[in-house]
Amino acid sequence: MIQLYIPLNFLGVIYREIKQGLTDVDRMFALMDRPQEVADAPGAPPLAGLERPVVRFEDVHFAYEPERPILRGLSFEIPAGQTVAVVGPSGAGKSTLARLLFRFYDVQQGRITIAGQDIRSVTQESLRRALGIVPQDTVLFNDTIAYNIAYGRPGASQAEVEAAARAAHIHDFIASTPKGYATLVGERGLKLSGGEKQRVAIARTLLKNPPILIFDEATSALDSANERAIQAELRSAAQGKTTLLIAHRLSTVVDAHEILVLEAGRIVERGTHAALLAQGGIYARMWALQQSGEAAVAA
Ligand code: ATP
Repeated sequence: MIQLYIPLNFLGVIYREIKQGLTDVDRMFALMDRPQEVADAPGAPPLAGLERPVVRFEDVHFAYEPERPILRGLSFEIPAGQTVAVVGPSGAGKSTLARLLFRFYDVQQGRITIAGQDIRSVTQESLRRALGIVPQDTVLFNDTIAYNIAYGRPGASQAEVEAAARAAHIHDFIASTPKGYATLVGERGLKLSGGEKQRVAIARTLLKNPPILIFDEATSALDSANERAIQAELRSAAQGKTTLLIAHRLSTVVDAHEILVLEAGRIVERGTHAALLAQGGIYARMWALQQSGEAAVAA
């Protein structure tokens, strides 16, 4: 009985959230991934000062399970309108940074601030409104492609949806389908490729137009033409926004304001691409490896 009750109750929560228009995809992930409620502080005000916000991680420590620390004292700043990239081996804790920024979990030591406000002191609703994420794997709803894009900003007009789709370079593809924006996608509709799904996610985020962006680059590589196109689209979406870029391919991070090399929950190297190459450390070795890998593929 208990076993049956929990999943049904859980689905009920998600359903209610969607019904009430409270949720977005990010929030839905939060509900699925979150072991306990992160509550708003009593009387918490909304996040303010979002014109050009600075994001700061200050001595952040975090563990999902007490005996296994994931982040061990991380400090960095994303200046307003700039991009900070995080690279490092699988399991280093890169995607955890995004989960903490969304406050799916609270840090155990240190703090995260946006425009000077501890994210634990403001409403979660205002926090999540300020953040946009292009996740590793985009989940599409079993609905029309227009609905899936407009999800970034419920109530957006068809013209606004189309403008976002054009900017994400998915409009021509949509227009080539018999039903255009009314085409059903998702499990029961038209299956989209990894690159097309990412473009839908970019369009959704462009429409939401949040001041802070998180790109969690897909682990599985797209074909290189698609990859380059997506990178160009991400770069133009990030223009003027405070951006955290979680990268798996170093070619994405070359232009970042600062690159952090994360290993076992610590920043082991940091700097611009040129400075890190000159340093001749871990990053320089990763770069050489990736270059020779690409050369081998191209040959
Ligand atoms: P990748 O490059 O493979 O995406 P990552 O650097 O983004 O990896 P994270 O997803 O941040 O890594 O995960 C860091 C560590 O935390 C991993 O060891 C992972 O197994 C663990 N982890 C992630 N989510 C949870 C969770 N919900 N509960 C317990 N451990 C978790």
